[in-house]
Amino acid sequence: VNNVLSRLSEAGFEAFLVGGCVRDAALGLMPHDYDIATNARPEETINIFDSYRIIETGIQHGTLTVLSEGNPIEITTYRVDGEYLDCRHPSEVTFTNNLDFDLSRRDFTVNAMAYSPIAGLRDPFGGLNDLAAGRISCVGEPSKRFSEDGLRILRALRFASVLDFSISDTTSDAVRAMFDLLRGISRERIDSELRRLICGVGASRIMAQYPEVIAGCLGVSEDSVVRLSGALSYLEADPVERFAALAILSDPDDPEKEAQRILTGLKASSADTRCASTLALEAARELPLDRAGILRLMGRVKMSELPAIAELRRVFCAAFDSGTVNDDADAFLALAREAADEHPCVRIDQLALDGNDVMRIANTSGKQVGDALKWLLDGVIDGHFRNDYDSLEAALRKRFSC
Ligand code: ATP
Ligand code: MG
Repeated sequence: VNNVLSRLSEAGFEAFLVGGCVRDAALGLMPHDYDIATNARPEETINIFDSYRIIETGIQHGTLTVLSEGNPIEITTYRVDGEYLDCRHPSEVTFTNNLDFDLSRRDFTVNAMAYSPIAGLRDPFGGLNDLAAGRISCVGEPSKRFSEDGLRILRALRFASVLDFSISDTTSDAVRAMFDLLRGISRERIDSELRRLICGVGASRIMAQYPEVIAGCLGVSEDSVVRLSGALSYLEADPVERFAALAILSDPDDPEKEAQRILTGLKASSADTRCASTLALEAARELPLDRAGILRLMGRVKMSELPAIAELRRVFCAAFDSGTVNDDADAFLALAREAADEHPCVRIDQLALDGNDVMRIANTSGKQVGDALKWLLDGVIDGHFRNDYDSLEAALRKRFSC
């Protein structure tokens, strides 16, 4: 990073680290990436780094990615955003020579600091002060900034959750007054902020303080968000598991469908949607405490999903039941672990023979083949015969008298 900074300044330009990396470094955290702002225009930056690999994906916004010793570093020309269209995208990008103009377009004071080894810290909006106070405040007038880009409303909650910060009074008032603007924001942008929000260390507090905002994004009741906030201590910091919990709290009668609705509403991947709805469905059922029941469950879900099902079951029971679920969940997990260690056969494709074998041995075809395989799997799970070729063949011959 120093190397990139000094190349720019040796060429006569200003170069500052900006945004998240300055904020994280000031908090004593390790930045996960480094963004550089410069008054060099993109074509000048390209010349300065002509011996480097450059990725030009963001060039229409003035951003280039330079690979320095294999590390991608984003370099963006100082810019001011033009008029905002439909609360989403700046309609044009205007470059500027003034770092403070660039900082003034940024969302929150803690994200609007810049640092260079030569010039030191630039902090025109009191970001360091807000960091020390643990507070998220908009740069400038919150209602104006939110009407430029409604996503900032959710970002305020996300940063407050992830950093465990409060939200300043004026910013908080604008959040509550303007969260309807989130309706106009693309689902994908909402999804990525929301996932981080609900997994932050302060997630429970933020959900309890702003349930209407989160409820509005997901089409669930405020009450179910408040209840989710109380249930987070049962759950891993995993967004899919937490969305599944919300689905259970929102619609305990059909949590599978509710999870599907929530995740497809966010345009989530089909893998995440399937996972959340399976977790929600299984957690709404009693946990199996017998070996065969556990093996059947292992046939329906991934091994790695079993702990989440136990955790979600606790959420379900705490909300709708008063049974001795904690003991049950512990016993379930212990039994599941024991069973998993034996690498048991829990699905048809794990049987020691396949459909072709069934057709040949039992001289059958069509639907009967599938039925026979299912029957064999049930027999193996219930312990009637072992999963080896000879045992399964003998069982088949007996059943089909052949
Ligand atoms: P992290 O990468 O940990 O999420 P970050 O601060 O880098 O934190 P990004 O979303 O990567 O967050 O954005 C980089 C910087 O760009 C922010 O620090 C902020 O200065 C600015 N920024 C990002 N999104 C917006 C926005 N919607 N409105 C105004 N400024 C923004
Ligand atoms: Mg970032």
